[in-house]
Amino acid sequence: MSLNIYYSQDCDLNLLAEKTICVLGYGSQGRAHARNLADSGCRVVVGLREGSSSWQLCEADGLQPMEVNQAVAEADLICFLLPDPVQPQVYENNVAPNMKDDATLLFAHGFNLHYGQISPPPEVDVIMVAPKGPGKLVRDLYEQGQGVPCLVAVEQDASGQAKALGLAYAEGIGGARAGVIETTFAEETETDLFGEQAVLCGGLSALMKAGFETLVEAGYAPEMAYFECIHETKLIVDLVYQGGLKKMRRFISDTAKYGDITRGPRVVDEGAKEEMGEILAEIQDGRFAREWILENQAKRPVYNALLKADEDHQMEEVGAKLRKMMGWLED
Ligand code: NAD
Ligand code: MG
Repeated sequence: MSLNIYYSQDCDLNLLAEKTICVLGYGSQGRAHARNLADSGCRVVVGLREGSSSWQLCEADGLQPMEVNQAVAEADLICFLLPDPVQPQVYENNVAPNMKDDATLLFAHGFNLHYGQISPPPEVDVIMVAPKGPGKLVRDLYEQGQGVPCLVAVEQDASGQAKALGLAYAEGIGGARAGVIETTFAEETETDLFGEQAVLCGGLSALMKAGFETLVEAGYAPEMAYFECIHETKLIVDLVYQGGLKKMRRFISDTAKYGDITRGPRVVDEGAKEEMGEILAEIQDGRFAREWILENQAKRPVYNALLKADEDHQMEEVGAKLRKMMGWLED
């Protein structure tokens, strides 16, 4: 599939000149987007809950906090930078009743639109601008004159300008300096969920934990197991981040490389790949989304129990002990 990539010269920041942008949420993404847009010359209001602890931070950053309903009512562009599970409720209670008829709704992740948890009327534009990095990086790189690559997608184009608006926004937060990749809400949502489940969060956590347990159950010291199977993943991942598997393999020994290419595929074998296919199917047909929405409605019993079990796992205790020997790791 061919891919459209846009850069600053393809984006017209002037499209935002006459508009008021309402950023809902002042967390990782919200704070970074709001500050970058303001520094790019956009008129930004930040919608917060009354009594929110972010109110003072927002003012200290030189921005204008406002109660959510009022911020929405003033806005031409409404950015959902709230936790995904709370967005449907905020849409119903605060956004839908107060937004202008021709407002544009902007998301940084497609979950709620793609799985029908938010269904805006056809008269509004619905777009996505999703930086491929955490908010802190979005802000830091912007200040250095750079940017984090972004995704742009259009779900509804009532104005005929939806994509251009998305690109203008990507320029405003600095993302177009690096490049803006065009995608769809479906593709972004499904690949994002798959990546975090099968590889980045789920796959990697399970791999590290299984390696740790295998060594400990075989009688090796938990401290050794922690270093070898958990702590040192950072060294490997940093190399992959910089230069792919190829660079990583230039920095490991020939013995490590031989073990890598002959043993790795035995751990992540055809069976594991089949399971990945099943996980992808659950994402594509909506089973995962339904399960997670119900889990939230039930106040997260499975989520809380499984997280607690991992928090109580021996690996966390050992890790905490080892980090005390490495004072430079304090966050
Ligand atoms: P976050 O948890 O860091 O921040 C959310 C903010 O919303 C917080 O300030 C919180 O106080 C506020 N909030 C919570 N409930 C609220 C309510 N009912 N009314 C008003 N404010 C409320 O979230 P985030 O990580 O910035 O994620 C925001 C969006 O960006 C999500 O759609 C997420 O998927 C997407 N995204 C995140 C990242 C990332 O790296 N964090 C990257 C790309 C996209
Ligand atoms: Mg993700």
